This record gives sequence, C-alpha cells and structure tokens, in this order.
Amino acid sequence: MFKCEICGKLADKHHIVYRSQGGVDFPLNFKYLCSEHHRGKNGPHKSRKIDLEYKLELQNKLEKLLYKEFYTLDELVKLIQINKGMLKKLLREYKLYKEGYKSSDIIFRLMGRKKYTQYMLEEYYDFIARC
Ligand SMILES: [Zn+2]
Ligand SMILES: [Zn+2]
Repeated sequence: MFKCEICGKLADKHHIVYRSQGGVDFPLNFKYLCSEHHRGKNGPHKSRKIDLEYKLELQNKLEKLLYKEFYTLDELVKLIQINKGMLKKLLREYKLYKEGYKSSDIIFRLMGRKKYTQYMLEEYYDFIARC
C-alpha cells in the first residue's frame, strides 16, 4: 500500500508524464498521491502549474541521473529500472551511436517527446498575473 507523498494518506499511482502523453512505466515517472493531491484542485490533473512542476522535477532528476552523453541499453535498464524490451522499442526512433544512445534523446523520449523548461512555468505565472 502506498502513501501520498504530500500528506501521507492512502495513495494512487500517478504517472508524471501521463500514458496518454507517451509516458511509460519506470519508478521515477510514478508519484504516489491521495485522491485530493491527485485529482483535486491541487493535483496535477486539475492544476496546470502543479503538473508542470512535477514534470520539470522529473526532467531534472533524469538530467542528473543521465549525466554522461551516451548510455547503452544495459546501463539504462539498471539506472532507470525500465523493462529492456520496452526501452528498446521506445528508443527505436533514435540513432544508436557506437557509444550508445544519446542521453538527450533518452530524456526527450521519457518526457513524452517534449522538452520542458522553467520558462513554461514562468509563462504560466505571467498568464495568471494577467487574469
Ligand atoms: Zn495527499
Ligand atoms: Zn494521475
């Protein structure tokens, strides 16, 4: 049984990059949230700001974890704790260099083929300030 990472109540598993956005199953992409912090107004499904914050946080973690320029499949399986077959399928669209896959490609794919920036969050704040 899982506890909400914010308040400690019973939690569901949330995919930080939603499956509908191309998100996949690996531990860093999961966040355990109670119904309020998951689907309530302060949860990522209702709050664009929280959704972005969680995604930026995940992207930062991945950038720290994959600090080298290239990684082989076996290294990635260990680091990201992802199923090898699935990973292979995910990375099929990217170039495999002799040193391995490019970490920027890997992160981009794990983020649902998107690069998130702090700027997106600032834009959001500007938008709110104008309302
Ligand atoms: Zn909670
Ligand atoms: Zn969710």
